Amino acid sequence: MSTAERAFIYAAKPSRVVFGRGSLDHLGEEVQALGAKKALILCTPNQRAQAQVAADLLGSISVGIFDGAQMHVPIESARKAREHARNLGADCIVAIGGGSTIGLGKAIALESTVPIIAVPTTYAGSEMTPIYGITEDKLKKTGRDPRVLPKTVLYDPNLSATLPVRMSVVSGMNAIAHAAEGLYAKDGNPVMSLAAEEGIRALAAGLRGVVAQPKDFAARNDCLYGAWLCGTVLGNVGMALHHKLCHTLGGTFNLPHAETHTIVLPHALAYNSKAAPEAMQRIARAIQAPSAAAGLFDLSKDLGAPTALKDIGFQENDIEVALKVALSNPYLNPEPIVEDSVRELLRNAWEGRRPAV
Ligand code: NAD
Repeated sequence: MSTAERAFIYAAKPSRVVFGRGSLDHLGEEVQALGAKKALILCTPNQRAQAQVAADLLGSISVGIFDGAQMHVPIESARKAREHARNLGADCIVAIGGGSTIGLGKAIALESTVPIIAVPTTYAGSEMTPIYGITEDKLKKTGRDPRVLPKTVLYDPNLSATLPVRMSVVSGMNAIAHAAEGLYAKDGNPVMSLAAEEGIRALAAGLRGVVAQPKDFAARNDCLYGAWLCGTVLGNVGMALHHKLCHTLGGTFNLPHAETHTIVLPHALAYNSKAAPEAMQRIARAIQAPSAAAGLFDLSKDLGAPTALKDIGFQENDIEVALKVALSNPYLNPEPIVEDSVRELLRNAWEGRRPAV
């Protein structure tokens, strides 16, 4: 559809982005620019060393490191972090890490007015969204709240250079999934479509470079630039079938987040290929392949990523349960949701079959 035929609303979300090698060095200025004097740094236990670099940079403005960030933000860890921040009188949160650590920062911000400075070290994109997720009684509840959108994001490609190649690849494919679904979002707009296509292009090129040479700075830079764009798309427009299926597979079967996105994406795109031809064209062009669905499957394979759900712990007889959960609430998708077709999609993803389109 040409933009001339299209009506849209676009409300940009306010966040400050500082991008570039060595941008972590600006952390002190950025904390002070927010008027904060007591910054609490969040990380996972295995990113403690990076958090310590941030603490050293902040000197007396740092009130400490909380290294209790965990996958899926369990409510217990959120409560502990909130209490810790309160006891220290923290007036700013510095979240250094991936979506899990930034997610913990969001859990604190949700119950206070404390601003977040995010320093992403993966490509997942949470830093650009007002979306939060907290897991209680094995159920991950997600929501949107402007308070959890980080005020400032420092993108420093040096920090993602330590991300292992396999994690880099699946994290990058996770980001591509945000942009791909953004291209056919009901509430999409031309600005987000430009960001989505460019984000996919940068990530596809960057990931190829990272696989060839994991410490290649230019490739890491491309990936992080793509992650920013794809995360922005996720924060601005609604997602569809692909994200719904991945949420179900992660929540109900505890499948690993980024791997699940990587495997399901080509099949979700195949499902939507007839209903969203312009999006498919733009994805194919961005990855320099003849088609979006098969092209992304081939890209994953070339990058050494998993391509079958059966290889990451999903059993064949889980398909029916997943189907039931995924179809329990209606949601927007370009192609109508039809039970038999979604079953076939899940079966193809389970088997790791290359899409025919
Ligand atoms: P993650 O944050 O769970 O990180 C995985 C592991 O990688 C952690 O142990 C982490 O410490 C380590 N790690 C991260 N960066 C590293 C680096 N540079 N070097 C070495 N180790 C590093 O992984 P993720 O994929 O970034 O985040 C997944 C989570 O984020 C999921 O729970 C997902 O739901 C959430 N998410 C939320 C949004 C949102 O908008 N709210 C968007 C995307 C993802």
